[in-house]
Amino acid sequence: MFYGFGFDRYYLMLVVPAFLFSLYAQYKVKGAFSKYSNYLNSKGMTGAEMARYILSINGINDVSVEPTRGSLTDYYDPKTKVVRLSETVFSSTSIAAIGVAAHETGHAIQHNEGYGPLALRSSMVPVAGIGSSFGPYLAIFGLFFGSNLLLDVGLILFTVAVAFYLVTLPVEFNASSRAIAILEKSALFSDEEIKPVKKVLSSAAMTYVASAAVAMANLLRLLLLANSRRRND
Ligand SMILES: [Zn+2]
Repeated sequence: MFYGFGFDRYYLMLVVPAFLFSLYAQYKVKGAFSKYSNYLNSKGMTGAEMARYILSINGINDVSVEPTRGSLTDYYDPKTKVVRLSETVFSSTSIAAIGVAAHETGHAIQHNEGYGPLALRSSMVPVAGIGSSFGPYLAIFGLFFGSNLLLDVGLILFTVAVAFYLVTLPVEFNASSRAIAILEKSALFSDEEIKPVKKVLSSAAMTYVASAAVAMANLLRLLLLANSRRRND
């Protein structure tokens, strides 16, 4: 037995609950988004108009707003300085679209201001990408073939990936709180309209917490497996 009973035990105790939590979070965000996609905002503003409005009141002229394919595929691209809104948000006048557009534009404002966690997150992208795709496999190979070198390289790479998920949290929370503050300050919408925006954004935030939890559960499992292996050496 190379690492015995621990394999399934840590997986069941750590990774499975985190994974179930992430499924639940995705279910909640899809539910909130589709519910408030049916509620049109009183100003008849589309997501794209909202994003352009927020950029202009913040004096940001070098960021464009473009549609992108899919649903819940919205993001801000700091490289090209484009707020990309999914087709369902770009041209929709729903309350959900307002919330998503304001959140993504929040990232553009972070970038414009040189907000630290966003810069840190962007700098981590290349290593984090490699770390999350190869780190766990290298570590498992290391455990399987008894190579401490492979195990350590895998664990280090995956730790960077987990750190990336953690740095993502303040970036996302901050973009949402900026979005809410802008909507409240603009006085375009009543509290009754802003309340569902908060619901959509907080359920979206939960999916980032869930992703971080899944990554941490996987890392902890690998560390515990590595520990029991080293004890058996
Ligand atoms: Zn975001």
